[in-house]
Amino acid sequence: MTEEMSGKGLWIAVVTLFPELVRSLSSAGVLSRAVASGRLHIEVFNPRDFANDRHRSVDDRPYGGGPGMVMMVEPLMAAIEAAQAAARGATGSAAHVICLSPQGRALDQQRVVELVGTKSMILVAGRYEGIDERVTKLAVDEELSIGDYVLTGGELAAMVLVDAMSRFLPGTLGNDASVCEESHLDGRLDYPHYTRPEEIRGLPVPEILLSGDHQAVEKWRRKESLKRTWARRPDLLTKRGLSDEEYELLGDDFPDT
Ligand code: SAM
Repeated sequence: MTEEMSGKGLWIAVVTLFPELVRSLSSAGVLSRAVASGRLHIEVFNPRDFANDRHRSVDDRPYGGGPGMVMMVEPLMAAIEAAQAAARGATGSAAHVICLSPQGRALDQQRVVELVGTKSMILVAGRYEGIDERVTKLAVDEELSIGDYVLTGGELAAMVLVDAMSRFLPGTLGNDASVCEESHLDGRLDYPHYTRPEEIRGLPVPEILLSGDHQAVEKWRRKESLKRTWARRPDLLTKRGLSDEEYELLGDDFPDT
């Protein structure tokens, strides 16, 4: 077990035909700092390195005909197995295997937070028409989608998940409190934010934010957060419900249904 991963770090392997995409996305901003500090460890496994024919083939035509190509079982399974061996070496246990797929469960903040608690995971990024169904059967624990649209490959989806998780790794953000107040964590959207100057292009900052009254500011923010959620994403509030205190807080601002 490597020293840096014996504690609280998150170990991730991405199985991808385009390692450079993963490397480039993890080489800037918060992700690169998380990697540099050892809180996040990202490895890449390319199925092409495990292909055993002369052309290093990783895809083939679909049985039954039809357009496009399908990622073959063997190079992909070999890459996943190599990633599992590396996960065991680094963390002492097998990794949770997630395949990014438009057919998976929709990723949300709750699942992001749950997954941060996982010691290690392997993210499988598909290409072409997707992966041979038998890989899903043999090696995949969970399929996750980042939305109801189709990407050309799973790399961006994998890195969306990595990015969202990285924000919950202790010490990754400058101010850990900021993740506690954000959109979706508590089933509501964030309140509006303002910075200097106090007035610009005829638009002033709401007066309450200049009052120095922390309790009043906090109350205003909770109210704005609820109002905004109701206006933009009523489905979130319907799912979550409102406490008596929140009904009271909304008062006359509670929108007519
Ligand atoms: N034929 C597949 C289908 O209709 O379900 C789509 C394949 S897509 C062109 C290629 C790969 O991109 C998928 O195997 C998956 O890894 C990734 N992908 C595409 N859309 C995605 C989404 N919304 N969420 C997560 N991954 C996605």
